[in-house]
Amino acid sequence: MAHTFAGEENRFKAPAPEEPAPSVENEYAISARQLRKVYKASGNQPAKEALKGIDLAIPRGSIFALLGPNGAGKSTFINILAGLVLKTSGSASIWGFDIDVNPRQARASIGVVPQELNIDPFFTPAEVMEMQAGLYGVPKAERRTMEILKAMGLDDKADAYARTLSGGMRRRLLVAKAMVHNPPVLILDEPTAGVDIELRRQLWDYVKSLHERGTTIVLTTHYLEEAEALCDTIAIIDKGQVVACEGKETLLSRISEKKLIVRATAPITQIPTALEGMKAELRADGTLSVLYNPAETSAMVILGALSAGGMEIADISTVESDLEDVFLQLTSSEAQNR
Ligand code: ADP
Repeated sequence: MAHTFAGEENRFKAPAPEEPAPSVENEYAISARQLRKVYKASGNQPAKEALKGIDLAIPRGSIFALLGPNGAGKSTFINILAGLVLKTSGSASIWGFDIDVNPRQARASIGVVPQELNIDPFFTPAEVMEMQAGLYGVPKAERRTMEILKAMGLDDKADAYARTLSGGMRRRLLVAKAMVHNPPVLILDEPTAGVDIELRRQLWDYVKSLHERGTTIVLTTHYLEEAEALCDTIAIIDKGQVVACEGKETLLSRISEKKLIVRATAPITQIPTALEGMKAELRADGTLSVLYNPAETSAMVILGALSAGGMEIADISTVESDLEDVFLQLTSSEAQNR
């Protein structure tokens, strides 16, 4: 859905810095260095290291996915940025403002859309917006309640009780609420968890339109599809560590890799020299797997090299890898080796 704003060039800008922010951090919407969080032991729960020293730099103007399985540490990361969880060590900046040195400006630079649809049923969207504006100290003259509600397709519901809003409308109201103080960075925590497909696409459109108007978007998700559909950069986080952070295209190009599995007449016990420099692996069942990019080489070339090296090939099969594979590769084997 397209929305037009009068004077939109004045919106979604960074709050005016009260003091110069460190120049190195300035180009990033969010940057984190060696960010660590250990939740203390409580009751019979042992201490938990939820973030193991995260380095991340999220460029301004990007639409960035923090992708990872449940328990990876995504919410912890976001809650530290939002000032809801205290980090154990390391540093983080939002729009150039260090969360320790300039906490107020750091917090004013992000809007966070929480996972839960937690809205008082007896308030109207207009009231919810006004209260939030009050919380953030937005002067009455600068409030844009109706304009934001309109952008979220909620202007005709401005005065309806929240309890009469559908799930999708409530979620849009939460996005609207997070935009009240005009932050340059919007963080969405699992924006479409438990949301049906149609609504999910609608939300994606809203998020995209916000991005087109200049807001940097960071979203957490455990849906590969969501990261793929929306984001230009994807960081994969697992067990409190960043296991990949790449442009979407680069990450997706890994998908084009194919896997060739070769069975020889006798079990293969070492990787043939012909495959030096290729991603070859001996498998427990005595077969050999070779990852290759069809744009660079072919199964025929690989098989030719193997038989030239003296291998008697009994059988072959190929497997297409997908983003799921890439994800599993990054979040299982590599992680286990750490
Ligand atoms: P995600 O958002 O990726 O699902 P979380 O940041 O919620 O991951 O959790 C990361 C890890 O920290 C998990 O093992 C979780 O159980 C643990 N954790 C999260 N919040 C707390 C808390 N308040 N106290 C103790 N452990 C927590």
